Amino acid sequence: MRKPKIVVLGAGYGGMITTVRLQKMFSVSEADITLVNNNSYHYQTTWLHENAAGTLHHDKTRLNIKDVIDTSKVQFIQDTVVDIKPAEKRVILHNSELEYDYLVVGLGFESETFGIKGLKEHAFSIANINGARQIRDHIEYMFSLYPIEKRDELLTVVVGGAGFTGIEFVAELANRVPELVEEYDLPREKVRIVCVEAAPTALPGFDPELVEYAVKHLEKKGVEFRIGTAIKEATEDGIIVAKGDDVEEIKSETVVWAAGVRGNSLVEQSGFEAMRGRIKVDEYMRAPGHDDVFIVGDSALIINPENDRPYPPTAQIAIQEGYNVAHNIAVTVRGKGELEKFSFDNKGTVCSLGHDDGIGVVFGKKVFGWKASVMKKVIDNRYLFLLGGPLLVLKKGKLKFF
Ligand code: FAD
Ligand code: NAD
Repeated sequence: MRKPKIVVLGAGYGGMITTVRLQKMFSVSEADITLVNNNSYHYQTTWLHENAAGTLHHDKTRLNIKDVIDTSKVQFIQDTVVDIKPAEKRVILHNSELEYDYLVVGLGFESETFGIKGLKEHAFSIANINGARQIRDHIEYMFSLYPIEKRDELLTVVVGGAGFTGIEFVAELANRVPELVEEYDLPREKVRIVCVEAAPTALPGFDPELVEYAVKHLEKKGVEFRIGTAIKEATEDGIIVAKGDDVEEIKSETVVWAAGVRGNSLVEQSGFEAMRGRIKVDEYMRAPGHDDVFIVGDSALIINPENDRPYPPTAQIAIQEGYNVAHNIAVTVRGKGELEKFSFDNKGTVCSLGHDDGIGVVFGKKVFGWKASVMKKVIDNRYLFLLGGPLLVLKKGKLKFF
């Protein structure tokens, strides 16, 4: 009998968890499982801000996919997905094509620039390993030029957005400044980190007491906040911002755009009904009208029944979706058992403020300072444990807690 072909696209949090669950659930004789990813490695997106700031080397953040999956049960193809043809049950890759019986789309997110002029050309984004590495190298190069050219904009880093990504990045960078100042013989007072946020507060929607803690601690480390100020344009020389009617240019050689994400645009290009790259899935995590196509991670859009708004795209929800999708595929393939409705179990949010500080709400309780920072490392290690057991935690985990 022909074995069903299950194809997973994208080795992010959602795709990896789905794959390792599927490999546990199916024997080789039951199904052919294929995982496709553009890189040979999986990376923990939640650590990219550290790579971008240069406080953690990117090799700590990524792991070789073939070291995590069981290659006797899962075929791994390193290639780029260029199109999905759900009507023909085919996926077009850059170098080949695949047929599937069941498809999992977990192609993650990309930066959303909202059409703001000049951002694509003049700003960096923290969206993957390549982007993070580029930011780190660029900052170091600009800082190395300062002693020669003495232009202030070489030492000015502008970060667009004080959401979780923006805050976590400026915190890491602020921690690294003393080391950079020493390394490149720089005048400390000339180094500026400017964080520009359009909303009336940093971390809009988060607990105000924790936000105040974060802003105060970061200001003490030299971060300048421009709250209620929107980035209007990025140019060769820096950015144009506006607060009400006041328009200002901030000269900078390094602009990092951390002010929004969207789902991978390939999703809507492939004809799925999607909102900014995210497919509003049915209760079993399937694309509407396609009972053979399951969606995980940032490619999926789920409405929170408590406030009628989409859940923010996070690794936490992507991991839980991976478990659900693997189960629902097993039930569908075998034609036995019950499909499970996906229900998000929100355990909270922790935002790091460097390696030794943070803020968060965990199981409904506020945490800050070193406790939040320890909690964040526990969360990171838990993911590695779910993915590859204790050995992966020992190999790649964050084991230095203080
Ligand atoms: P992703 O992790 O985005 O991975 C997608 C995968 O698909 C990648 O491997 C990519 O290489 C691959 N891919 C993309 N396009 C193609 C293609 N065309 N062909 C083949 N492969 C492709 N969430 C939290 O819950 N907690 C946090 O602390 C947290 N911190 C964050 C910090 C930062 C700096 C950022 C940017 C995000 C953070 N998030 C956090 C959000 C979280 O990282 C995302 O929600 C999560 O990564 C989404 O996972 P995913 O499975 O959808 O895919
Ligand atoms: P976000 O959308 O959450 O935040 C973007 C911020 O940029 C917002 O505060 C917004 O007001 C601001 N902004 C938008 N346009 C602007 C403009 N023109 N000028 C200035 N500011 C502007 O994006 P993010 O921080 O990248 O987060 C993406 C997703 O990843 C979210 O779901 C988030 O929860 C998740 N995440 C979680 C963590 C964590 O749990 N520790 C860390 C990082 C990201």
